[in-house]
Amino acid sequence: MRAFLCASRWSGSQYRMPELPEVETTRRGIEPHIVDSTISRVIIRERRLRWPVAKEVDRKLPGNRIESVDRRAKYLLLNTDAGSAILHLGMSGSLVILDQGVPAGVHDHVDIEFDSGLMLRFRDPRRFGSLHWSANPLSHALLRNLGPEPLGADFDGDYLWTKSRGRRVSVKQFIMNAQVVVGVGNIYASEALFLAGIHPRRAAGRIARHRYKLLSGGIRDVLSKAIKAGGTTLRDFYGGDGEAGYFQQQLEAYGREDEPCRRCNTPITAIVQGQRTTYYCKQCQT
Ligand SMILES: [Zn+2]
Repeated sequence: MRAFLCASRWSGSQYRMPELPEVETTRRGIEPHIVDSTISRVIIRERRLRWPVAKEVDRKLPGNRIESVDRRAKYLLLNTDAGSAILHLGMSGSLVILDQGVPAGVHDHVDIEFDSGLMLRFRDPRRFGSLHWSANPLSHALLRNLGPEPLGADFDGDYLWTKSRGRRVSVKQFIMNAQVVVGVGNIYASEALFLAGIHPRRAAGRIARHRYKLLSGGIRDVLSKAIKAGGTTLRDFYGGDGEAGYFQQQLEAYGREDEPCRRCNTPITAIVQGQRTTYYCKQCQT
């Protein structure tokens, strides 16, 4: 058996950064292969990732069994009795499940081998990923100040409305702030604002409660659809050539400058906010 799973790939001359849906799809893809397996060996070929790979990862993982694979924001948590490895894919990281003994390439920095004969391999050409260890991962410095999960029970319109009172920042930048809510990347922010009919430059503190209900629903919709699209793609990952199909999702606004709005035919407008391009319909979004 040789399974292959990939969370990021070349797109033209640039890596496309794994977003929350890709990380969630990766989690769902790797979990069934490694849960209940005991780690037999950890091989670290390169410690110099975004932060040095913690020594505890190779010291504490061997001999422990993977109890679950969780995700918090864009971090994957490999949970064992002894603690958790916290893995971030960075800009260009990917995880593959392979039979042990497959030769490593230059960017294959970490292998985690299991008693099943499989291994989890972390590949990261740009080395912006990271691998930490924590006995209590949700209290780790990287995770403890994060806002709620957008698909979790704590996230809704009332939450956004309450959190936004008195905030002058634009609503687009507000929802992209990980301390407000995690996982709303640039594409998903544009799409969710389009679905909610909210102008991306509107001050966060000046949006009514009922509009935040629409916005929280839009954020959930756009992320759920991306995860669903990823789940469809996932089947093709296995036994394939490692070229993961990137999530094909029909975008309503993002990347459609000057193309007609699908609701009203007005050409879509592009503006720059916080150095990121926002796409919106000036007719439908107020
Ligand atoms: Zn429109």
